[in-house]
Amino acid sequence: MSSLAAARADNFYYPPEWTPNQGSLNKFHGQHALRERARKLDQGILIIRFEMPFNIWCGGCNSMIAKGVRFNAEKKQVGNYYSTKIWSFTMKSACCKHEIVIQTDPKNCEYVIISGATKKTEEYDIEDAETFALPADEERGKLADPFYRLEHQEEDLKKKKEAEPVLVRLQRFSDARHSDDYSLNKALRAQLRGQKKRVAEEESASKKMGLGIRLLPAAKEDTAAAAHVKFSSKFEKNRKNKRALIQASSIFPRQSGSSTSNKQLELESKRRKISAAAASNLLVGGFKPSAWSQGAVPSRKQKGISITGRHS
Ligand SMILES: [Zn+2]
Repeated sequence: MSSLAAARADNFYYPPEWTPNQGSLNKFHGQHALRERARKLDQGILIIRFEMPFNIWCGGCNSMIAKGVRFNAEKKQVGNYYSTKIWSFTMKSACCKHEIVIQTDPKNCEYVIISGATKKTEEYDIEDAETFALPADEERGKLADPFYRLEHQEEDLKKKKEAEPVLVRLQRFSDARHSDDYSLNKALRAQLRGQKKRVAEEESASKKMGLGIRLLPAAKEDTAAAAHVKFSSKFEKNRKNKRALIQASSIFPRQSGSSTSNKQLELESKRRKISAAAASNLLVGGFKPSAWSQGAVPSRKQKGISITGRHS
């Protein structure tokens, strides 16, 4: 008798001691066709590979055992649901060797954890999942029942009548909208034509300005926003005036300023203002030097006066 397990497992090796009247090889070796998996067959237990049908928490160490993890489980019949057998699977978890017992539930077509673990809750609200609620199986079955239909027909008809005005109104609205398809078509085409025309106009306008892109029509808001922008023009203007004044004045102080009265002072300041304006005009563009040299003299005078004024 061969002791080579692999050869025996193949079930093809017939040792020299074997004779056909001894029956099959399994019988000859005194073993079950399922080998080790059948070792508890006398207790009604077959060892099979069981695949976890859902995620569970191990009852021993509280770690998660994922759906699809496989176990060597002892499968045995524990009861019947009508003619369907109820199977129990007993296995030891890989994490802590805790015993887990799971049974089939033919009535609800699912697996039930009997002991050693808890199912991970993965059921969601209809609202959370944003799906429609389907009527329960019992409800759906009831609709086929003529008595149930008869009882609820009245209620359903009432509901229908309540909803009717809204539906009729919607239908009428829709009909009115789509009754005159000629005018609808006409309006749409006119709209499109107008749009095309506008685009062409804008394109030609931008081409005239030498722009590669089409400009949007001028908006009132844009105009208002542009008007609100303040540039620092006053500062620039003052600076220009001052500079012009300095450039226009003589570098030589004037001697005849000691005997000026208050009235004269005022007059001088007025003149200075005028001369400043003239100077700025000059900068903007246009007088000959001979024309402004005269206007610039008083300002130089004023300088001398202010000094003498302080002295007196
Ligand atoms: Zn565990």
